[in-house]
Amino acid sequence: MNHAAKRLIAHLAAGKARSSPLGQPSITLGDLTWPAVAEIAANRLLVVPLGATEQHGPHLPLSTDTQIAVALAQRFAARRADVVVAPAVAYGSSGEHAGFVGTLSIGADALKMLVVELGRSADAFSGVVLISGHGGNVEPVSAAAALLQAEGRRVLAWTPRIREGDAHAGRTETSLLLSVRPDTVRLADACRGDERPLVDLLPLLREHGVAAVSDNGVLGDPTGATGAEGAALLEALVDDLDADIRVWQQ
Ligand SMILES: [Zn+2]
Repeated sequence: MNHAAKRLIAHLAAGKARSSPLGQPSITLGDLTWPAVAEIAANRLLVVPLGATEQHGPHLPLSTDTQIAVALAQRFAARRADVVVAPAVAYGSSGEHAGFVGTLSIGADALKMLVVELGRSADAFSGVVLISGHGGNVEPVSAAAALLQAEGRRVLAWTPRIREGDAHAGRTETSLLLSVRPDTVRLADACRGDERPLVDLLPLLREHGVAAVSDNGVLGDPTGATGAEGAALLEALVDDLDADIRVWQQ
């Protein structure tokens, strides 16, 4: 690594370290110059947060899924010396939320193509990890990852596994946002939505969208959410991510 690249990375690291109590500072691709990236890319995984701009009830911001994907990527990167975090993709496949103003969806086909082209342009890195913060992204992102793998690329599509929790803008996501970006949560406006299990709701959601089952856009119950619960969940999810990537890298 040349001196300028080392100095830039050390400088960025020092800045991030002051704001993060976690491990080592994460390196953000958008903050680097191309010569700095050229020096390190072959030994770095590129982690791409994939989010959405999508309604999350009356109390959570449209950026909820993006914020969660970014938080997972940054916390994972803070644990490892071989990771660079790419700029987040803030749009996803959110057609099921179309009944709620503010939702901006690029649809499944465009998302798949976006991820394929991103992956094809990232061959300088040792691999690409796609972190999806939005359930609607999973199918197109998995299809994109399968195509990139078939082309001989090292790509992993990863989605948080929430073992217990509600589906959308409920306690789970509200707790996560309270831990990541509490300034964007309007807790006083949080109220419960349709609380039926997702498996029961899915046929209705697929056919008619979220608006057909929930007036306020919530699937679950956000009341009782806390930042402490969200912080613990986030750490557990990063543990999963870390473990899955170690297995993938073997
Ligand atoms: Zn969400």
